[in-house]
Amino acid sequence: QVKSREVEALMNKHLPQRTTVILHDLGRVGDQLDLTVYAVGGFVRDLLLDIQNMDIDVTVDGDGILFAETFASQFGCRVKSHQKFGTAVIVFPDGFKIDVASTRLEYYVSPGALPTVERSSLKMDLYRRDFTVNTLAIALNGDSFGKLIDYFGAYRDLQSRVIRVLHNLSFVEDPTRVFRAIRFEQRLNFKIAKHTEDLIKNAVKMEFLEKLGGRRLLAELVQILREKEPLKGVGRMASLGLLRFIHPGVELTPAMQVALEETRYVVSWFDLLYLERPYESWSVYFLTLCEGLTEEQFWGTCTRLAVAEHYKERLVEMRRQSEELIGNLERKLARSEKVDNSEIYFTLRGLPVEVLLYHMAKSRSAEVKRCISLYFTKLDGMHPQIGGEDLKELGVEPGPLYRELLDLVLSARLNGKVASREDEIQLVREVLEGV
Ligand code: ATP
Repeated sequence: QVKSREVEALMNKHLPQRTTVILHDLGRVGDQLDLTVYAVGGFVRDLLLDIQNMDIDVTVDGDGILFAETFASQFGCRVKSHQKFGTAVIVFPDGFKIDVASTRLEYYVSPGALPTVERSSLKMDLYRRDFTVNTLAIALNGDSFGKLIDYFGAYRDLQSRVIRVLHNLSFVEDPTRVFRAIRFEQRLNFKIAKHTEDLIKNAVKMEFLEKLGGRRLLAELVQILREKEPLKGVGRMASLGLLRFIHPGVELTPAMQVALEETRYVVSWFDLLYLERPYESWSVYFLTLCEGLTEEQFWGTCTRLAVAEHYKERLVEMRRQSEELIGNLERKLARSEKVDNSEIYFTLRGLPVEVLLYHMAKSRSAEVKRCISLYFTKLDGMHPQIGGEDLKELGVEPGPLYRELLDLVLSARLNGKVASREDEIQLVREVLEGV
């Protein structure tokens, strides 16, 4: 069994000092109010695995809202509370958040009713969780600070790297756990326990997953596709027969495996180059997975998965852009027709990163891949050196001609026809003189 001082040593070694201080402060406020306070869940799991996790979840044996409010008043934080659920979020002035729950037992008076919340013990609270590895708690009160509480053999499972449910009805109770199991297994490099895997297979066979609404299914899928190694999760989904819940036409054929690997390759390449550029990498994988569907089937899938209306339209548009715009470029290249940089630029300009990456992964043409890569690494950042002021000085009347002239100058720059500001001004002069 792990000793308190070992847990404390782990905290000192792996957590930023500020976090350790906050954990002690939480315990002290618990002492003042005579409430027992624990850090629980993913935070504890990751601490023991030496994985960075800043999401502190706290459970209070008693009134968590009172606890959160007292803590907040002493440390200058704000509190957002949900009286009905006995939960609160402590928000620090810099935005740092701590989730606080009261040990509770939720039960449903009638199907479809909101849960009625009652107090229960920490053990009951932890029993409601998805997997053993998420059931660890660390006591935070002064005299027991660092004590690891392990009711369900979580520490053993962490050490043997196993994902295990707490009881046989777990997946029936909540089918999203099937996807969570896959996500944790792949992310942590664990293995779903044999019995747990059998329960998943059973849940699939008994069609419990059909009960899962599209919205929840999408949320789980997106999370799997947002993991560092989405292919492992997709592979596991395939082997458990789960891809058909996206659409029966989605299958992990050898060709799809290659397509996904290509997608992973371009996504990693892009992420390395452009760390800060926001885009939805999950969408790129999603487009690849659904590559074989017709537009109608794709639309239907997005509708069933309750993709937000505007985003559904965007996704469908992305498929079209890949097919039509970049497809045209591709066909031209296939006919060995000359395509200069400005044509690449004006074809790809304004297209979402997702489309460019999707097409780059999808295309079998090395030349097309090169064009898209060139666009990202070089062309996209190019601008004319002259601007509106210069055109004004050259006597151009403000109007649509401005844009046309600047695009013309940009074309020349992209194609290496002008190198300096003077060249650009000269070019505009020539155009204006009709030379
Ligand atoms: P992540 O790093 O992905 O956020 P996490 O373990 O913090 O992992 P959350 O999804 O934030 O996971 O959930 C917080 C805790 O709530 C988990 O540790 C888990 O025990 C519990 N939990 C979340 N979803 C479920 C569920 N569907 N069934 C049971 N328990 C759940």
